[in-house]
Formats: sequence, structure tokens, C-alpha cells
Amino acid sequence: METSTAPLPHEPRPAGPASVDGLTDAQGRSIRYLRVSLTDRCNFKCTYCSPAETESPQGLLTRAELARLFRLFAGLGVRRIRLTGGEPTLRRDLIEIVADAAATPGVEDVALTTNGHRLDELVEPLRAAGLGALNVSLDTLDPARLPGVSGRAARLDRILAGIDAAAGRFRSLKLNTVVMRGVNEDECGALVRHAWARGALPRFIEQMPFAGGEVVPLAEVRRRLEADGFTLTPDPWRGWGPARHLLGRDRDGREGLIGLIGAMTENFCEDCNRARVAADGGFQACLGGHDRVPLRELLRAGAPDETLAEAVRGGLWRKAPRHQMDEAGLVLLPMRGLGG
Ligand code: SAM
Ligand code: SF4
Repeated sequence: METSTAPLPHEPRPAGPASVDGLTDAQGRSIRYLRVSLTDRCNFKCTYCSPAETESPQGLLTRAELARLFRLFAGLGVRRIRLTGGEPTLRRDLIEIVADAAATPGVEDVALTTNGHRLDELVEPLRAAGLGALNVSLDTLDPARLPGVSGRAARLDRILAGIDAAAGRFRSLKLNTVVMRGVNEDECGALVRHAWARGALPRFIEQMPFAGGEVVPLAEVRRRLEADGFTLTPDPWRGWGPARHLLGRDRDGREGLIGLIGAMTENFCEDCNRARVAADGGFQACLGGHDRVPLRELLRAGAPDETLAEAVRGGLWRKAPRHQMDEAGLVLLPMRGLGG
């Protein structure tokens, strides 16, 4: 199946996908984790996510199309599905989509990433639908700072109420912070304490250049936490994703894990087990790559499962060893379409 762009010079040029065993890429990375963007729309306008001029891909996948893709990917070996966006809670059929994913044979875990604006009212329906893991974005604890980060529609009281409602209600609760120079880098310690107090895992993410911005390296986050009284030691625990972890202990002897996602300064890609379906149904093996397989068009043209599976395997086979986000001139699909 032919897809969008010509291979880059450093891309592998193997014989072809026919010999691929299940969902394995040319680097031997086995793909078990699928991220699906349910919509590119969002009620927030985070500075790091929404570049000023972005075009919305038209025509979201329907619930039935999503359910078919869940079955297809699970049949190929995917075991975890994360629903994201844009803001996935803007979809009216979100609860049904979660239930479909949870009921898909082979899927062991269904996760959701949200900005938290509608979370308070959705915690119980999500739980009942079978959601196992929840990530909430929390970039600041200062209500005066939030509009500058996420736009005027963002309300800290709603996000915090949603997080409180979710505490203890899911197998996993993580609070994600994109660390931004001159904006929230002074809040790392407070964010860790806020998460730990709710049984959540705090995670710090290096800002990827979807909308410009300066990377605050994770090494600096560690130094700031230490200056704030935390003792940090590396912890071997790995979740499903790319995060590395530290075991932290604060001045009062409280201990917990802290996640670090070094998208820019660390080797984030070497054991990548993920692939993505964007809001417009484009299958993208790498968040920071060029290659896309138009699954929505194939679905709507009546392609049988075997054709879809071949197209997915082809996309994976072309997945580069490392993302190309730091390459000059690479135009990335807006994060809100791709789903982080
Ligand atoms: N709207 C939901 C939210 O904000 O959690 C889900 C979609 S959002 C695109 C998914 C994740 O991507 C969030 O944790 C967000 O912080 C992260 N993200 C967005 N833009 C980013 C960037 N430029 N660099 C690093 N992380 C980013
Ligand atoms: Fe919306 Fe999430 Fe992007 Fe913020 S990070 S603009 S909440 S999609």
C-alpha cells in the first residue's frame, strides 16, 4: 500500500512488510500501544499545542469505524488503547467509545487523556464504561497563570475538582505537566506534592516544538526538585509509555514516583511501543514523522480487514528509528489532531 511521502535518507529500506511478525517495526520494536485521537477540536488553546494557524482535518471517525479499528489493531497485537485528542471529552459518544474499546477482545487496558474541564461529571460514567487509566493535564496550580497557558476558557477550579473526583477511582491516575520556560518551571515541587496527595503520579514532559517554545531539559527539572527539598533516585519502574521514573522523597519523608518524559533531550524512541491514529483517521507510526496511512479513506472505500492490516504493517515498517522533530523544516501535524 502506497502512502504519503518518499522515505527519508536515514529510513530503513528493508525488503518489505511481508515478513513482519505481528505488529513489529523494522527496528524490531513491537507495537502494543495505540493512541487514538477522537477529535482535533479543543475547548482550550494551550500555547504549546495550538499554533496560530492550523487547519482542522475534516470528518472524524465514527463510533462504528473506531470500534472496527480497535478490533483490527487488537487482532494485530495491540493491548492498550489510549483515547486522546484534541479534547476527547468533547465527543458526545465518548462513554460508548470507551465501552467499545474496553469490550474489544485482546484489549487489556483503556486509557484517556483529558484537560480535565468536564472530568468531574464524567468520572463515574467513564469508570462504569471500563476505563482503567486516566491522565489529566495540569500545567499550573496558579489560577492567574492558567489563561496564559491554556486560554480564557480554562478554569483551574474545574480541573482541580475533576482530579479530586478521579482520585482513587481508576487503576492509574497521572497528572501531566509540560514544563515551560518562564511560565511554570518554578511549580515542579508544588505539582509533585499536589499529585502525591491524591494518589496520582506527577509527570513532567519536555515541550516538543509543535508551536515553538524553548525546551526546559528534564535535567533542570531534577535540579529544581532537589533545590525544593526532594531527594531523587532513579527507579526502574516502566509503565506502557516512554516515561522514566524517579523515586522522590520530600522534606517530610513522603515518598512517591515522579515521571519524566524526555521527548527532546533523552532517547525517547529506542523502545517506542506506540503508534497513532489521528483525528482524521490517518495512521501515523511516529508522532514526529512524515508517514501517514489514510485509514479513514480505506475504511470508507470498503477495504477488507486484510487490506487495512497490510496498510498498517506497511506504515510501521517505514517507521524511522527516531523521531524527526528537531529537523529543520519538518512541518508537524498539530498536536491536537495527532493526540500527543
Ligand atoms: N486535551 C487533552 C489534554 O490536554 O490532556 C488531550 C490531548 S493533549 C494533545 C495530550 C498531551 O499532549 C497532553 O498531556 C499535553 O500536555 C501534551 N502536549 C501537547 N502539546 C505538547 C507539546 N508541544 N510538547 C509536549 N507535550 C505536549
Ligand atoms: Fe487542548 Fe489538550 Fe492541546 Fe491543551 S494540550 S490545546 S487541552 S488538546
